[in-house]
Amino acid sequence: MSMATAAERTAKLQASIEAQAKKLAELKAKKAKMDARGRSKEKADERRKETRRLVLLGAFLKSRMDASEDAKSKTLAGLDNFLKRPEERALFGDFVTLRASCLCQGIALEIGGEIRDMLFCHCSMCRKAHGTAFRARGRVRTTDLRWVRGEDLMRFYESSPGERRGFCSVCGSNIFTKFDAKPQELGFALGILDDDPGNRPLFHVFAGSKAPWYEISDSLPQYETVPPAYAPPVAKPEDD
Ligand SMILES: [Zn+2]
Ligand SMILES: [Zn+2]
Repeated sequence: MSMATAAERTAKLQASIEAQAKKLAELKAKKAKMDARGRSKEKADERRKETRRLVLLGAFLKSRMDASEDAKSKTLAGLDNFLKRPEERALFGDFVTLRASCLCQGIALEIGGEIRDMLFCHCSMCRKAHGTAFRARGRVRTTDLRWVRGEDLMRFYESSPGERRGFCSVCGSNIFTKFDAKPQELGFALGILDDDPGNRPLFHVFAGSKAPWYEISDSLPQYETVPPAYAPPVAKPEDD
């Protein structure tokens, strides 16, 4: 191999390396631009993937565990606690399913998401509708509701303009209330839940209308009527 050829080869190699380095720098710049654009979405996707993996792993363990009853219940409790975290519920509604059913079992449904703003309502309409001292309700996104069976058994009573209380036409169980003014949300009767929703009621509303034969004995805040943020959506305030 002659010196000239070796020098030529080195120069050629050098040029090739420089060209590739330039190309790499361009690609890096391009990628940085794309990254900046996609970073927040990417982060959310990553988090979703990560939790999905955990959920699937949990389901796998649930199905395959041959461990002692004690170890099994510990693992299941850990998984359930994880899934009850509001942030996991918000992200993984598809995986987090709460079951609910009516007294006659003709109606069964699932809620794939968080039940928010849980409260006890002592208003006279809720007392009559439920035949008891108060109604326990929470907010459910309409899109989180999945019918298992019995949608045809539902009947609705319009107790206030635009507020339709849904119940099972066979057994009378209160199921959920629909609001004409806010169709994306349901007022869900907590009593029909078959699973623990994780969240807990925050306070009592319409405590001023409570049954005289019932004393509220817990330490939750009590409101005479209802804080505006938690009031059921109404079509027009002047309808009241
Ligand atoms: Zn029923
Ligand atoms: Zn009420």
